[in-house]
Amino acid sequence: MIITKGSQHGSFKISVFLRFTLILSICLSFASLSSAKNNAVRKYGQLRINGNHIVGKDGKPVVLRGMSLHWSQWAGQFYNTGLVKWLGDDWNCTIVRASMAIEAGGYLTNPEREKQKVKKVVQAAIDNGMYVIIDWHDHNANKHIPQAQTFFEEMAKTYGKYPNIIYEIWNEPLDTHDWDTVIKPYHGAVISKIRAHDANNIIVCGTQSWSQDVDKASRSPLKFDNIAYSLHFYAASHNQSLRDKAAAALDNGVALMVTEWGTSEATGDGKLDSEQTKEWLKFMDKNELSWCNWSIMDKQETSAALKPGADPNGGWSVEKISDSGMLVRQELRKYHSPDVIYVPTPPEVVDKMLEMAQVTKDDLVYDLGCGDGRIVVTAAKKYGCRGIGYDIDPKRIEESLENVKKNSVEDLVTIEQKDIFTLDLSDANVITLYLLPSLNVKLVPQLEKLKPGSRIVSHDFDMRGVKPDQVVKITPESSYREHTIYLWTIPLKKEPVDDYLR
Ligand code: CA
Repeated sequence: MIITKGSQHGSFKISVFLRFTLILSICLSFASLSSAKNNAVRKYGQLRINGNHIVGKDGKPVVLRGMSLHWSQWAGQFYNTGLVKWLGDDWNCTIVRASMAIEAGGYLTNPEREKQKVKKVVQAAIDNGMYVIIDWHDHNANKHIPQAQTFFEEMAKTYGKYPNIIYEIWNEPLDTHDWDTVIKPYHGAVISKIRAHDANNIIVCGTQSWSQDVDKASRSPLKFDNIAYSLHFYAASHNQSLRDKAAAALDNGVALMVTEWGTSEATGDGKLDSEQTKEWLKFMDKNELSWCNWSIMDKQETSAALKPGADPNGGWSVEKISDSGMLVRQELRKYHSPDVIYVPTPPEVVDKMLEMAQVTKDDLVYDLGCGDGRIVVTAAKKYGCRGIGYDIDPKRIEESLENVKKNSVEDLVTIEQKDIFTLDLSDANVITLYLLPSLNVKLVPQLEKLKPGSRIVSHDFDMRGVKPDQVVKITPESSYREHTIYLWTIPLKKEPVDDYLR
């Protein structure tokens, strides 16, 4: 903002391998990315710039859409874990932007306080599989080079290993800041500090005139890898002429990211221009531009997504959302990933799951959604127990059968192509799962038919309304993130749930 100027066959595909024996291992090998509970980082992984596009780990274009938080010194209450999770779950955001204020009571005068706000948001994004922009929200960054270098060096050192992170090193240079002589040298000075600790995460660079002169930047681009340029617009103030500049920049081969845009005038207030907003959304879709809408704030201002008094921790009913917020939320919720990602469970997590279930050779393990069969194969090899892997996906079945053969456990392990939600689980003693919470819940009636003393172990996802006996967190060598494992024992211990939050 400018302050100085103007079912398994449906959307979820569940990989189910169910096998007989003592361990009923319901292993969810596919996490659905549709609607809430999306996990964009699991899906797209490490991002990079290829030509004028952001691409994911498979080299295909990635479009991230989400919300920008408001100035951190004025909206610090929104910089919390619950807010970020809510934006992911309910608003379908795959990205969130932490706008750390620099001047006007921001980082320059309260460095530790403002930094802690950003870190809270970054950690919440990592925990929820979302991308996060660390934004140096400044109009005069050229006057604060040492501070920016120190800050971004620390951020890169701390978070550079996470693919979630995107650095935005100068939100909006002014029109008086020349691209070649002021802005570009600033970017170079900060980028070199980041790249000393983080070789690859995307760095977004502000452009002249409140991040509008992207065409100018595209004619004299920075000589670093994985750089994008900021394009900002406010629909009631900026229209086709700015879109033309953006198109020219893209034609010149640079990548743009709309790290901030509003439905309002450039002040953040005034008219809400829904017609121009539509034009802009069309333009961004067509050019596969990622964006963050300005802003998560509850003040009386057109661009603020929330009405005064909205809970800073999320959980908003529609009555708490402003006209602008409703328009943007509706847009965000349009995008649902139709595809399903097969995510293998790290071997250390498999070992821990079997250990927590206290598997013995007399157990029969069912893995529901068995992926490549690794859980039942490991259980058979390590404990000599029987196992059945169930999956709905023929490709997974094929991989599992191969795995069973390779490990010579054909006498102990069976792989079956079945719908896990129709299975009789009563023969199993151990069930392993890697399913979304909503699917875990769906299995409860079947799980209740297990013999007393049977164990259920779930990777990453809980079972709302059923209290686990044990929750263990581990960060395996082979994975960059923390994994959570839940253990339940039959009979299940039901607990009341807050319906609204689910
Ligand atoms: Ca990195």
